[in-house]
Amino acid sequence: MRKIALAALLGCTALPALAEEVNVYSHRQPELIQPLVDAFQAETGITVNVAFVDKGMAERLVAEGDRSPADLVLTVDIARLLQIVEAGVTQPVQSDVLEANIPATLRDEGDQWFGLTTRARIVYAAKDRVADGEVTTYEDLASEKWKGRICVRSGLNDYNVALVSAMIAHHGEEYAKTWLEGVKANLARKPDGGDRDQIKAIAAGECDIALGNTYYLGQMLADPEQKPAADAVRPVFPVFEDGGTHVNISGVAMTKAAPNKEAALKFMEWLASDEAQAIYAETNNEYPVEPGVKRSDLVASWGEFTPDSKTLTEIAALRPAALKLIEEVNFDG
Ligand code: FE
Repeated sequence: MRKIALAALLGCTALPALAEEVNVYSHRQPELIQPLVDAFQAETGITVNVAFVDKGMAERLVAEGDRSPADLVLTVDIARLLQIVEAGVTQPVQSDVLEANIPATLRDEGDQWFGLTTRARIVYAAKDRVADGEVTTYEDLASEKWKGRICVRSGLNDYNVALVSAMIAHHGEEYAKTWLEGVKANLARKPDGGDRDQIKAIAAGECDIALGNTYYLGQMLADPEQKPAADAVRPVFPVFEDGGTHVNISGVAMTKAAPNKEAALKFMEWLASDEAQAIYAETNNEYPVEPGVKRSDLVASWGEFTPDSKTLTEIAALRPAALKLIEEVNFDG
């Protein structure tokens, strides 16, 4: 971005051709994206500038309009991807590579967004206090037997909103509300912190089970400081009574303004390549979307699971209903 500004100041014609570059607005943490950026830059010579955007991605892109420097948006959660698409700040991307490498269920029919990794929302269970087979379904988390034993982050967190959306997709709003009340009544403490904090709470003996995403357990096991807490839990893959395990994605979209469209497409396609998919799998313990790319040894050791049958677009469409229920039952209160 700086190079363009400088070129404009000096008058482009006097300068040699600018090196190719791509500007990325990332909601994903910089340290996670960096290994991907480094590998792509080394291979192609294309510079990737990453701006970390924590909040208000759609609003920022709308405000910047045609003059936005951003080419690509990297984010997590289908609802967030759709918010950006619905704000009208993305453009469709037709690419044989993306079509071949990303299963149709994990990308937009209209080519506006593309999933790059998947993650399951599972139960972390205390190794010493939860028996094999004790954790069964998401529905069962509302049953008496879990009274005072569950920890979870805020109900309003995107990951939990998506899970509640999936519950509505399976059973309808009335059931989902009763379920939420049941889970709330089973909490060991008020919702607090992130997914990693729930693992720490289990290790500290505050609760026996918690909801969380798969890769956080992987991250903690890889971190010497956090490993002791992570070692206190094992991952269990619950299912919906009439379905599978709840899964969400991280993904990418090209902005409508994209000043570096060609280079941006190259980066998008590279993110769906064997090489990038392997980096996602190894460095962040996420599930690659590209069929045939290996999971990390750790993730593979957790075994197979059946992803839920409800589609990501179905789940995203139920987000407003889910938010309403979570507020109605005052889940965090
Ligand atoms: Fe996350």
